[in-house]
Amino acid sequence: MSAVIGRKPKVALTRGHDPSTPGKRSFDGKLREWAFNDDMAARLNKHLLFNGIDVLLTIPTGGADALPDINTHNGYLNRKARIAKINAWKPDLEIEFHANACGTNWNSGRGQILYIAASKRGTDSEKFINVLRKYMRSVAGTGSITPDRGFGYKNFDIVNGVKAPCCLIEHAFMTNHEDVALLLSDVQRDKWAEAEARAVCEWFAIPFKNYKNVVTPPKPPKPPVPKMPTLKRGMVNNDDVRKLQNAINKFIADKKNWLDVDGDFGELTEQALIAVQKALLPSSPLGVADQATWDKLLA
Ligand SMILES: [Zn+2]
Repeated sequence: MSAVIGRKPKVALTRGHDPSTPGKRSFDGKLREWAFNDDMAARLNKHLLFNGIDVLLTIPTGGADALPDINTHNGYLNRKARIAKINAWKPDLEIEFHANACGTNWNSGRGQILYIAASKRGTDSEKFINVLRKYMRSVAGTGSITPDRGFGYKNFDIVNGVKAPCCLIEHAFMTNHEDVALLLSDVQRDKWAEAEARAVCEWFAIPFKNYKNVVTPPKPPKPPVPKMPTLKRGMVNNDDVRKLQNAINKFIADKKNWLDVDGDFGELTEQALIAVQKALLPSSPLGVADQATWDKLLA
C-alpha cells in the first residue's frame, strides 16, 4: 500500500503498440493488439477518474498513433520517447497493457501473465504486482476463463525505464482460440478493468467505487395541478385570471409581448390563450381555460 497524502494519486496508463505497428494481431485478423490495449487503457481510465485518481494516458485512446513525430513506431526510439513522457509526468504508478502471443499458428498456450522489470525485483513494483495479481486471479482461473500464470521478471523497455512502480499486463494469448474469444469479449474486458481498478485503489488505500453501480435516484413526482375554475372572456379583476395570465406569459418567448397581469379577461388574454391552446391543446375549447388547459399550463 502506498497512500498519497494531500493530492490525488497519479497513474500513467500506457497502451502497447499502435495502429501502424506491423503484426500484433490474431491469425484470423479479428483482434488487433493495439486496439485491445487501447480499449483496456480507456476502461481503466474511467474507473480511476471516477475514484479520484489523476491519469496520464501516455498515448491518447481512441485509435491515435503514438508520438507522430517519431516514425520508428515499433522501435526503441518510440519506447524511449514514451518513457521520457511518463517520467516527466512523475506518476505514482504506471501500467502497460498488452495481449500475449506465442508460436506461428493457433496453439494451446494461454493465460494471463504480469511482468515487472527484473531490475525492480523486491521493490514497490513487486509489491504492487502482488496486489494486482490478487484481483486478477479472481477473473482468471481455468476452463473457459484463461488461467492465471502468475508473474515474471523481464526488462521490457518501459517497465525498466519508468521510474515509478510499474508493471506490464499480458491479459491473454492472441494465438489461442479461446483466449482470443475472451480478448474480444466486452464482459471479460470489463472484468479485467474492474480487477485492475480495485488493485490500484487498494494500492492507494482508496475504497473502490464502481461507476457502473451508480444509480441516479428517480425524480420525485410533480404535485398534481389543483382543480381550477373555468375562465372565459368578460371576467374582471379576478385572481384566477391573474394566475392564467402569468401562466400564459411563460409560453411567450418575447417579454415585450407578455400580457399585463391585471386580472381582466379581455381580447388580448383570449387571443394569447387561443395561441397557446392551438400549440399545446388542440382538443380544448379555444379561448376557454378549462381544467385540461390548466393542467397543461401549470404542469
Ligand atoms: Zn504487446
